[in-house]
Amino acid sequence: MSHETGKISVQTENIFPIIKKWLYSEKDIFLRELVSNGVDAISKLKKISLSEEFEGGTDYQVKVTFDKDNRTLSIEDNGVGMTVDEVKKYINQIAFSSASDFIQKYEKDTAHAGIIGHFGLGFYSSFMVSTKVVIETKSYQKGSTAIKWESETGMDYNITECDRADRGTKITLTMNSDSGEYLDKWKLKELVKKYCDFLPIPIFVDGEAANKQKPLWADQPSAVKEEDYKEFYSYIFPFSGDPVFWVHLNVDYPFRLQGILYFPKLKHELDASKNGIKLFCNQVFVSEEANDLVPQFLTVLKGTIDIPDLPLNVSRSYLQQDPLIKKISSHIIKKISDRLSDDFKKDRTAFEKYWDDISLFVKFGMMNDDKFYEGVSKVLLFKSSDGSYKTLEEYWEKNKEKNSNKVYYAPESETSSVYMDMFKSQGLEALLVDSKIDSHFIHFLETKNPDMKFNRFDSDIADQVVDKEAKSEIVDQDNKTESDKIMDLFKTAIGKDGLEIKAEALKSGDVPAVILLPEHMRRLSEMNLGMTQDKSMFLQNHTLVVNTSSKLIKNALRMNSGVNPEKGKLIAQYVYDLALISAKVFNEANLGSFMRRSNELLEDLTSA
Ligand code: ADP
Repeated sequence: MSHETGKISVQTENIFPIIKKWLYSEKDIFLRELVSNGVDAISKLKKISLSEEFEGGTDYQVKVTFDKDNRTLSIEDNGVGMTVDEVKKYINQIAFSSASDFIQKYEKDTAHAGIIGHFGLGFYSSFMVSTKVVIETKSYQKGSTAIKWESETGMDYNITECDRADRGTKITLTMNSDSGEYLDKWKLKELVKKYCDFLPIPIFVDGEAANKQKPLWADQPSAVKEEDYKEFYSYIFPFSGDPVFWVHLNVDYPFRLQGILYFPKLKHELDASKNGIKLFCNQVFVSEEANDLVPQFLTVLKGTIDIPDLPLNVSRSYLQQDPLIKKISSHIIKKISDRLSDDFKKDRTAFEKYWDDISLFVKFGMMNDDKFYEGVSKVLLFKSSDGSYKTLEEYWEKNKEKNSNKVYYAPESETSSVYMDMFKSQGLEALLVDSKIDSHFIHFLETKNPDMKFNRFDSDIADQVVDKEAKSEIVDQDNKTESDKIMDLFKTAIGKDGLEIKAEALKSGDVPAVILLPEHMRRLSEMNLGMTQDKSMFLQNHTLVVNTSSKLIKNALRMNSGVNPEKGKLIAQYVYDLALISAKVFNEANLGSFMRRSNELLEDLTSA
C-alpha cells in the first residue's frame, strides 16, 4: 500500500457539531479518551500474550508527552497497534450504527459527555482541541507494516506507510489556538489523575508516573484486607477519618457492577455530600454524579461504582427510569441492608458500637424505601433509658403489658430530668430519640405498627407513677380535701387560661410538679424547636400536675392557709416556673418575673 485518501464514513458533518456542543464544557475528556484507548490496547495485548507470542517487550505503559514550541501533544502506548485494515475499519468507519437516529434524539439534549466513549467516538473528541491529528501505529502481528493516518478536520483522512519501529500506537495532536492549556505538565498530570488514576497500566506524563493504578473494587472481595479498604477510602476521600463500614459490590450477572461503598462517620444531621459516589466505566472515571444512580437516602454513602454497561443516555432524567439503574439501585439497597443484618447477628456489640453513627441514615432510609425498611426493621435499635440498646421488638416484648400497649419515648436531652428519675424509679423504660428526624420517624413507626401507641414519656402521667395506695383523703369543714385546696392555691396563684391543674399523689415526693403537654403539641414543639424562640403557642393547652406527696407543696399550702398566704402563692408560682423550665417550655418573655420571684425568695431565706 502506498497512499490512500478518503472520506470518513458516517455523517460526521452532522455529528461533529453535536460532539462539539457537548464537549464545550468538558473539553478535558479528549485526554481521558485517548489515554484509555491506549490502556485498552495494552489490555488486549496482555490477553493475547496468554496464548500467542509477539515481538517487543512487555514493559507496558502509556506515555503522554508534549512539545510547547510545536504545539503538539502525544499519547503513545505499546499495546496491540493496528494494521492498515484495522485503521480503516476502526478509525475510518465510526462504529456508530444509527447515527441519524442518535442525532435526532440527542441534538437538543445536553447529555453527559461521559457517553462519548460509548459511541466509539472517543478518538474523534481529539478534533475538538486540535487542528491536526496523526496516528502512527504498528500492529503486534508479525510482519505488520507501520501506518500513518492523518486528518485535519476529522472528515478527510490520508493514510501512508511510515517508519515506526515499535509495536503500538502514537497519537499526535497539534493543539488549536484555544487549547494551549494542555501543553502543560501540571495540567496533564492533574487530568490523568482525575480520569485515569485507576487504570491498571502505568501512565507517564513527561516521564513522571501519574496514576495510582490499583482499582481496589476490581479485586475479589475475599482477597481484600480491612486495611486495604481503609487506605483506599482515605486515598479517595482524604481527611474523612475511618469509614464506619463498607460494602464491596461485585456482580457479573444479570448486570455488571463493581464498586466499594463506604459509610462515612456522619455528624449531626444527614450531611449528604453531593459528590460522595464516583462513577467509573471500566475503571475510567466518568463522573462525580453517580449519586443520581442511587436512591436519595443512599447519597450519604461514599465510594466508587464501576458500571461497564452504563446506558448511553446518561442524562439525569433518563437515568432514574432506566431498568438497569433500577436494578442496580435495588441491588445496592439489598447489599446494605444485608450487611447491617449480618453484622447485627454476628456481633451485636460491634453493631451497637457503630449504631449511633448510622442510626440517622437507617431511619431516613426506612422512611424512604420499603425494601430497605423490610431489610433492616429487625435490627433497628434505640438507646433505652436503662442504658441498653433495644430493638423495637425487644422493647415491646418486655414492656407491652406493663405499659398497656404504649411505647414510651423520651428525648435524649431529658434523660436527667427529675420526671425521668421518677419514671425510671417506677421501673418504666423509654426509648430515647435525639434528632429532628425522630418526630417524623415515630409517626412513621406508628403507621407501620398499629398495635403500638407511641407516647412521650411525659405527655401523660403514667399510671405506674401515681401512688394508688395513697390514703383516701378526708374532707374538712369547708367540704374540701387537701387536693382541692392545693388546686385552689395554684389556680389563684397562676391564674392562666388553658392551664389545667391536677393534684396527684406521686410515688416519689422529690418532684413538686410536672408539666404535661398533649402528645400532638409535644410533637409539634419538637419539630419546631430551635426554629422559634416563642414557645408560648405550645402552652395554650397544658396541664400542671401538682404532687400532693411533695413536702414543698404541703409547706406551701400550710403557709397559704395560715401565716403568710402571699408567700404561699409566690411559692406556687415559683413551682410552676420550675416545672416549665424542666419541661423546656419556659417562655423567655417571663424571665423578668421569674428573676424577681427568685430574688424575693432568696432574700427571705437570707434574712432569717
Ligand atoms: P472506542 O474506544 O469507544 O471503541 P474510539 O473512537 O476511541 O472508540 O476508538 C475506536 C477504535 O479504534 C477502538 O475500538 C480500537 O479498536 C481502535 N483504537 C483506538 N485507539 C487505539 C489504540 N491506541 N490502539 C489500538 N487501537 C485503537
